[in-house]
Parts: sequence; C-alpha cells; structure tokens
Amino acid sequence: SARNLEPYRVALYPGDGIGVDVTESAVKVLETAESTFGTFSLEFTNFNWGCNYYERHGILTPPDYAQTLSKFDSIFLGATGWPAKVPDHLTADVLLGLRRQFDQYANVRPARTFPGVKTPLDCDVDMVIIRENSEGEYANVGGRFAQGTPNEVAMQTAVHTRRGVERVIRYSFEVAEKRQRQKLTMITKSNAQRYAMVMWDDIFEELSMEFPHVQAGRQHIDAAAMNFVLKPESFDVVVASNLFGDILSDLSGAITGSLGLNPSANLNPERRFPSLFEPVHGSAPDIAGTGKANPTGAILSAALMIDWLSVDGSASIAGDAIRAAVAECLARGESTPDVGGNLTTAQMTQSVMTRITHKL
Ligand code: ATP
Ligand code: MG
Repeated sequence: SARNLEPYRVALYPGDGIGVDVTESAVKVLETAESTFGTFSLEFTNFNWGCNYYERHGILTPPDYAQTLSKFDSIFLGATGWPAKVPDHLTADVLLGLRRQFDQYANVRPARTFPGVKTPLDCDVDMVIIRENSEGEYANVGGRFAQGTPNEVAMQTAVHTRRGVERVIRYSFEVAEKRQRQKLTMITKSNAQRYAMVMWDDIFEELSMEFPHVQAGRQHIDAAAMNFVLKPESFDVVVASNLFGDILSDLSGAITGSLGLNPSANLNPERRFPSLFEPVHGSAPDIAGTGKANPTGAILSAALMIDWLSVDGSASIAGDAIRAAVAECLARGESTPDVGGNLTTAQMTQSVMTRITHKL
C-alpha cells in the first residue's frame, strides 16, 4: 500500500486565473491515481504566489522563493500573469529565474491529436518537441552601436556551447530511444549559419553513434516548418535550439488543437534540481472563474510529472491510466466548450477520475 512509500514532495504554484482551477483538477486526478494504484505517494505544499500576493506585497513571490522551492522534488505550476494588474515582464522574470537557477535546460512539449477533437489539419500526430532552454539565440549578447544614427548597427549574438548543445541532444536521444518509433529529428539552419549550427550537426552525428537504435535525421528549419504542416505524422521526437524550438513548440500546439490540451516540462535531466511541470496555456483572464477552463493540459502535465518522479517506473502504469482516461473523455465529448463539449472544469475532472477508478 502507498502508506509505506516515501512520498514525492511536490510544490504547487497554482498562480493566477485559470491556473488555480486547472491545478486543482491536476491534484484531484493525481490523488485518485495515487489511491487507485498505490504504487507511489505524493505530498503537496501549496504556495499562494502571483497577482494577489503582488497586490499585498508589491512582489509576486518572496525574494527567497527559489531557495524555498529547491527543497522539493518537483514543482507544479498552473499559470501566472494578469496583465491588467502586474507588468508581464515581472511574471516572466519569476519563471526565468527558476529556469536558470534550477538549470532546466530541456523544455519538453509533447503534442498529440485526440480522436474527437477537431484540428486545423486532418492528421494523426504524436510527437515531442525538445527545446534547448538555457542559451543559443536567447543568450541576449550584443548591443546597439551608433544608436539612432543612420550608421546604427545592432548585433544579437547567439551563444551555443558544446556542453549546452551536447546535453540537450543527448537527452533527446534518450527520450527517442524509449519511445516506440525511436526516431529523432534535429532542426537547424546549418546551410546558412555556418558556425554554431554546424557544431550542432557535428555533435548530433557524434552522439548518433551512441544510440544505434534511434533513427536520427536532420532538417533545416524552413523545411521543417513546411513538413510540420504537410506531413506532421513523420515526426516523433524533435530537438532544436532555443529560437527554433520556441517556434516549433507553438506550431506543434497549433496543429494538434486547443491551447488547453498540451502539457509541458522544464527539466533538469541530471536531477540536481527540481524540474517544473505546467500546461502550455496561460492564465486566460477572459475565462477565469467561469468554469470553462479545459483541465487537460494540466492533467497531462501531472502525468508527465509522476513519470519523471518515479525513476524506477513505479508510477508509469498510473501515468498511462491518466492519459488513457483523458483521451477517452475527449473522444466521448465529456469535455469543456473549447473542444466542443459542455462540461465545466470540475465536471470534466470528475469524468477523468471516474474513468481512472473504473479501469481497475
Ligand atoms: P500567456 O502570455 O500567459 O502565455 P496568452 O496571452 O498566450 O497567455 P492564454 O492565457 O494562454 O494566452 O490564453 C489565450 C486564450 O485561449 C484565452 O483567452 C482563452 O480564451 C483560451 N484558453 C487558454 N487556455 C485555455 C484552457 N485551458 N481552456 C480553455 N480555453 C483556454
Ligand atoms: Mg502565450
């Protein structure tokens, strides 16, 4: 029974708007899976940070928030931000701070289509985008020279390190190796960016020798953008630099349906620091408090989180059961209005929970 298991300690940061609603859904589903399967145990600690905290204290989180979170096994985030109340850059800084201090260099975004959910393309997709999250084009090195004059020159230098590139590609190979199709595609633009992107190519070729079972291929970003639309089924795991990964993550979300469906993880693959799990959507102030938030992205992020926490795979049956229950709800229209259903957030969550317990 779960009583004898050492619990994973999870920090909950529900945040703002619908982040609060979908975090509640994710926790309920995790608790259901925990008691149904008994193969893992979770202990939640809630942090009421975000816009309400900001109104009382003038800051979004206590100054030592990263220190506080560092004591947990993982962090679950709902969504943060309320542009009418808090400047957006302050919200962004909180998450950037965590990403940097916890060296969460792999941003992982699974994206799949679901029977029963309409998508802009007629396709059947199940892919994972892995974006380098710590350097590259977003290193913000450069400057503006002779600013405002006709001779102004602006330089924005991308910084790619062998260590940084190697570690994210290696992690991507490891993910690809564990999946059924065992396929990895690296996206660069090495025909036009002859230094950094050629280094990506070199490192990719070196590492592919270590993973002989993985079908490894490369595409340029222009061709990849076209192929995401023309033959999205051809992709399994995709790895890209910070900028290209950012763009492809959004594209993968767009072709697979509602913003409310997709999970994500900011990982420190070495497990030296806690990783962070969150749905890809934001706080959606327009539907906050209406019960219209789709909890799917949050629930699938919770499934990713327990997969990640149970290194020995002891929670993988529970993770699979959560994913299956969500897919069944979506297929039967037991869902929120954004994907064509007429349930509230709480009702859809209850349907997912019922399906998990009835599977046994
Ligand atoms: P952020 O800057 O935080 O990423 P954003 O401006 O990109 O936020 P979101 O808050 O993600 O925007 O949402 C955009 C719109 O999509 C929302 O206004 C809402 O109508 C819809 N939406 C987002 N998430 C969901 C969800 N979980 N369920 C239903 N609709 C959603
Ligand atoms: Mg956004």
